[in-house]
Amino acid sequence: MKQLELLYSGKAKSVYRTDVKGTLIVEFRDDITAFDGGKKDVLRDKGSSNAGVSAFFFEYLERHGIKTHFIRTLDGNRMAVRELFMIPLEVIVRNLAAGSVVRTYPFSEGMPFNPPVIVIDYKDDTRHDPMLNDDLIIALGLVTPRELKKIKSIALKVNTLLSELLASRGITLVDFKIEFGRRGKSICLGDEISMDSMRLWDKKTGESLDKDVYRFDKGDVMATYHSVAARIAGHGTGSGTPETRQTGDA
Ligand code: 5GP
Repeated sequence: MKQLELLYSGKAKSVYRTDVKGTLIVEFRDDITAFDGGKKDVLRDKGSSNAGVSAFFFEYLERHGIKTHFIRTLDGNRMAVRELFMIPLEVIVRNLAAGSVVRTYPFSEGMPFNPPVIVIDYKDDTRHDPMLNDDLIIALGLVTPRELKKIKSIALKVNTLLSELLASRGITLVDFKIEFGRRGKSICLGDEISMDSMRLWDKKTGESLDKDVYRFDKGDVMATYHSVAARIAGHGTGSGTPETRQTGDA
């Protein structure tokens, strides 16, 4: 498969067209940003670390009946994915109160949400990703009421699956953000699931194991990302999981 022109470049990933119809390549770059791009750096191996973890999660979710865009890992920091028509929503599932929900509302950090809380933001950097409600989502024509119901039910299923897997690694899934796209009539999970898009706490120590380490200068970001990748996917970074490692035609 040949990588062709750049279609889109976000804060940490680039998407390329390929010579295979309906297949794109996502490149996870070493860029890291926080606070609407107000803080940025380039961290060696960060792209391959997040690509490895994302590939691992996508395969795990596919095995449990969740449709995702993931096709296969190509090399350290690139994966082949199915082309989706992305829906500009950031779907956040929260199991414990942390981050913006603690800054905005009178929740104390670490307070459990039972059932989990779903928050949906409008993905638009120029508007600073404002929070939506169901009526606004429908009024904006972003999805149909039926699609919205489906998106929420997939998000909750993903939450259960990821929480279970992470718990078995001694990690609490505090919250995470996922994005969806359309492929024909189906709704598929797109984008990434990595330490950049999740909030993870060590079950024993409460230590942050995610981008909060970068946001709030809590320590060595890449040491954290490497150790979490190894803990989650049972591997270092850069080579894909045993299941995703591919040779040959990238
Ligand atoms: P918060 O609303 O507390 O800032 O974020 C909640 C969760 O969603 C966190 O795990 C955070 O990393 C993720 N999240 C929220 N917005 C974004 C975003 O624009 N990009 C990424 N990668 N993750 C996000």
